[in-house]
Amino acid sequence: MDLSVIIPIYNEEANIGALYERLCGVLDPMALPGGYEFIFINDGSRDESLALIRLLAARDERVHYVDFSRNFGHQIAVTAGLDRTKGEAVVIIDADLQDPPELIPALYQKLREGFEVVYAKRRSRQGESVAKKVTAKLFYRLLVSITSISIPVDTGDFRVVSRKVVEALRQMPEQNKFIRGQISWIGYRQTYLEYDRAERAGGATGYTYRKMLRLALDGITAFSDVPLKMATVSGFLVSGLAFIVMLYTLYARLVSHDYQPGWASLMVSILFLGGVQLIAVGIIGEYISRLSANVRQRPLYIVSEES
Ligand code: UDP
Ligand code: MG
Repeated sequence: MDLSVIIPIYNEEANIGALYERLCGVLDPMALPGGYEFIFINDGSRDESLALIRLLAARDERVHYVDFSRNFGHQIAVTAGLDRTKGEAVVIIDADLQDPPELIPALYQKLREGFEVVYAKRRSRQGESVAKKVTAKLFYRLLVSITSISIPVDTGDFRVVSRKVVEALRQMPEQNKFIRGQISWIGYRQTYLEYDRAERAGGATGYTYRKMLRLALDGITAFSDVPLKMATVSGFLVSGLAFIVMLYTLYARLVSHDYQPGWASLMVSILFLGGVQLIAVGIIGEYISRLSANVRQRPLYIVSEES
C-alpha cells in the first residue's frame, strides 16, 4: 500500500460525496503502483454520515471505516485512523474540503524527495469568523513562544507523513493528543507547502469554542512547562517587592521619620508570605512537570538511522 488517507468525520453528510469524488480525481492520476486506501472515522455523527460511508465502502474496496460509539473528538479520530493505516505514506485531511485534495500530489512529491513530514501551511483563511482567525493566530504564536520544540504556526493536521512517523506516533500513548505537536516533537526532516484555505464546503463546523479551548490547553500542557514555572517567577518577584518595601520602611522609620505605625509590618508580612507561598507552588510545579513527563510515557528518543 502506497498511501492511506485518514478522514475524520463529524456530521459531514453534506461533504462526503464531493470529498470522495475529489480525492479519487486526484489520487487516481497519481497512478500509485501499490494503490491507496481511505480510512473514514465516524466520530459519533448524528446525521447520515455513517450511511454514506457504508455506501462508499460497499461500492469501493479501498474504503474502510471505523464508527465510534460516540463523539470522542477530532484528535482521537485521527489517532484511530493512524492505528489502522497500512500505507507507506499517510495523509490526514479534513472532510469539509477546507483542505484541498488537489494539494496531495505536491505534498506526496516532497515526501518522496526525502522528507518524513510535509505539512500544509495556511497562507490565508477564507470564510471563517474574525474571532476564530484572531484566536487561532494568537494561540499558535503563544504556543511557539512557550515551547522548546518548533511547532509550525498556522498549520492544522492537513499533512502527509511517512510510515516512520506513524510508527513513532504509535509509541506515544499520551491521553491528551495534540497530534501536530507530537509530529513536531518526533523530529526527522520536515518541510511545508503553503496553500490558501478554502471555505467549508457544506455543513457547519464541529469545533465549538469549548473544543478549541480544550485543544489549545492540550497543546500547551503537553508541550510546555512554562505555565508551571510562572508561580516560581512571580514568587520571586513578590518576595523582591517585600524586600524593597522593607528597605523603604526602614528608611521611613530611621531617616525621614515620616511613617504610619503598623503599615510596615502588615505590608511586609503579606508580601513576604505571598512570595513564599508562590515559590512553594512553583516547587510543586517542578515536581508536577516531571510527573506529567513520566505519565505521558513518550519514548526517550527516536532513532533515525543506525548501523
Ligand atoms: N471532527 C471530528 N470530531 C469532532 C469535530 C470535528 O472528527 O468532534 C472532524 C470534522 O468532521 C472535520 C475535521 O474534524 O473533518 C475538522 O473539523 P471542522 O472543519 O469542524 O473544524 P474547523 O475547520 O472549523 O476548525
Ligand atoms: Mg473545517
